[in-house]
Amino acid sequence: MTVTTNRLRIAIQKSGRLSQDSQALLTNCGLKINLREQRLIAHVENMDIDLLRVRDDDIPGLVMDGVCDLGFVGENVLEEVSLQRQLDNESYDYTVLARLDFGGCRLSIAVPQEEDYQSIKDLEGRTIATTYPRLLNRYLKQKGVNCRIVNLKGSVEVAPRAGLADAICDLVSTGATLEANGLKEVEVIYRSKAVLIQRRDLADEKQLKLIKKLMPRIQGVMQANE
Ligand code: ATP
Ligand code: ZN
Repeated sequence: MTVTTNRLRIAIQKSGRLSQDSQALLTNCGLKINLREQRLIAHVENMDIDLLRVRDDDIPGLVMDGVCDLGFVGENVLEEVSLQRQLDNESYDYTVLARLDFGGCRLSIAVPQEEDYQSIKDLEGRTIATTYPRLLNRYLKQKGVNCRIVNLKGSVEVAPRAGLADAICDLVSTGATLEANGLKEVEVIYRSKAVLIQRRDLADEKQLKLIKKLMPRIQGVMQANE
């Protein structure tokens, strides 16, 4: 049974690279957020909105299952979860309301610096560690390359040194982490930004009205940041 409430529920990352920017965007839109650090739910004092503060990985599913109405999440996580849910025959519907101006990064394949790398074909038959097995698999299929994919939730960048994989596929922004681990970026497989998504079947008049009020403000804040 789903809890019913007509307050709009927005899922945001509790702590991590998207939390500050997502919260700042909402604050700049005029939301007065009553934040107590450890709380799962933060109430917005001046509008009928609650923020659900969760792991970023849970956000697409919460929106696709209709448990949250909106969510701020990286396209990398959104796409990975979508692909996985399609395979699992679960719902994977959502609408993108806005592509945001933060959370920019790329999902890239990296190999040890000393490796003589010419093309993706060099990875044929090799092992690649990643947190994004579905996105990586789609890319390798497109390129016609067969690899073994090892799914790691964390510490992906140490996998080659630990002898767990020949290469990795991980998020990169500056490349400093790769370099610090003796790796070099050789293929960009996905470019990502944060997006604001909405559940497909949202029908509550009051909530739809609230979103209609919110969206121009979000666009306005982003334009002011340009
Ligand atoms: P959580 O505890 O919520 O699961 P996490 O450790 O999985 O957090 P973060 O490292 O906070 O996630 O990254 C969240 C998102 O920020 C990424 O999925 C990506 O969309 C974006 N991002 C932007 N730049 C980077 C980067 N350099 N490295 C990793 N993620 C980045
Ligand atoms: Zn995560």
